[in-house]
Formats: sequence, structure tokens, C-alpha cells
Amino acid sequence: MQDLSISSTVKTLKDRSYVKIVKGKLQATELGLSVDRFQSSAFPELVESKFTAEMEERLDAIAQGKQDWQKYLTSWNREYFASAVERAKSKAGAEASEGQGNNGYAPREKSSQKCPKCGDLMDKIPSKSKKLARPYFLKCKRKACDVVMFYNKSQKAWVEPGQKREETVPKISEHLCPVCNAFLAEKTYQKNGQTKKMLVCSTNKKDKKHKDVVFFQSKGKWWSPKFGELQ
Ligand SMILES: [Zn+2]
Ligand SMILES: [Zn+2]
Repeated sequence: MQDLSISSTVKTLKDRSYVKIVKGKLQATELGLSVDRFQSSAFPELVESKFTAEMEERLDAIAQGKQDWQKYLTSWNREYFASAVERAKSKAGAEASEGQGNNGYAPREKSSQKCPKCGDLMDKIPSKSKKLARPYFLKCKRKACDVVMFYNKSQKAWVEPGQKREETVPKISEHLCPVCNAFLAEKTYQKNGQTKKMLVCSTNKKDKKHKDVVFFQSKGKWWSPKFGELQ
């Protein structure tokens, strides 16, 4: 009898994918572990040995005909199980909405940033991550796009992770800054839909003297309104 009940218990656990057999031994699956965790927190009584021992005694009594099973189960359900299930349900609901935060069923707030793939406005997804410069990141709602963007403080722009932004990695030129003699750095910018190059001081100094240190490409030469042509 004991063997039979153990093997039927194991069969049920296997049928529900709560356990699997690894190298001839039973091993709990991730599903099994999470069910166990939830059950222990939602029905703490059910896993208490005192509770289960008492229940087994009652079931033995029923098996021996000393206890009316309908009466027992009805009162068990009324006095314990029905309310325990209700508690567990509300607990499960609370945990599910906690896990989802504001990006689950709540309407998402739109950003003014367009998805680089489909051009639709991206959704703001709140995040408490300390790595982020803003308390949210952006996500395109279309699964096909699969685009997320994070705010980059130094670039002052929304960027995709791993995206190369060549214009933010200045290329050092062989020309020198007329103000501080550091090398000038090449940067790109957009004008009339074209990518153009310019030279600025590689030190990124923002003082008054450096305000005019910017050279534009003109007929194969670098030219600045203030400093003229670079030699
Ligand atoms: Zn998109
Ligand atoms: Zn300089």
C-alpha cells in the first residue's frame, strides 16, 4: 500500500512536470520548485507536518469506516480550504501584478522618440535600474521591431544598446587647435540630409577662446570663419 501510494505520487509529479529523472534520480524542475515556493507561502499549513499528520489520521479513520468522509470533507472545505484558496488567489494576483509593474496591463506612456525601424512613437517603460540615466527606457510595441533604447547622458540621445555612434567617437586629426595646440578631432554632423565632417578641439574645452574652434570642410580644405584655412 505504501509503495503504491509513493509511486502514484511520483507519477503525478512527473505527469505535471514538477520532477524529472536525472541519472536515475528524481530532480525537481524549475516549475516544481516555483510551485513549491508558492504553495509554501500561500498554504503554509499544508506543508506543516502537524497538519498533514492530523489529516492522514482522519483519512485513515475514513478508510476504516470510523469517520463519514462527506461530513469530514465538507467541514474541512468550509473551515479551512475555501478561505485558504481565496487567500492564495489574491496573493497570486498581487504577485503577478508586482512582477509586471507598470508595463503589464497598465496603459503605456508614449515617448516623443520614434522607433528607428517602424517610425512609430516608442513606449516609455518604467525601470528602477540605477544603471539608467532616466527612470525609464523606450521600447517599440511591435514585436517585429524588437527595439529598445536607453538614454545616454553624454550623447544626450536615445541609443540602442550596442549601437555604434561614430559621430560620438571623435577621430583625431593631424591638425592642431589654434588655441591650445592639442590635436583637433574630426566629428560628423548632418546637414541637408548629408553627413558632413568638421574639426573641433579634442580637449572638448568649452571656454570662450574655444567657442570659435570649429573648422568645416570646404573644397578639400578645412576652413573656419574665425581662424581661416588650416594649413
Ligand atoms: Zn518599431
Ligand atoms: Zn584646443
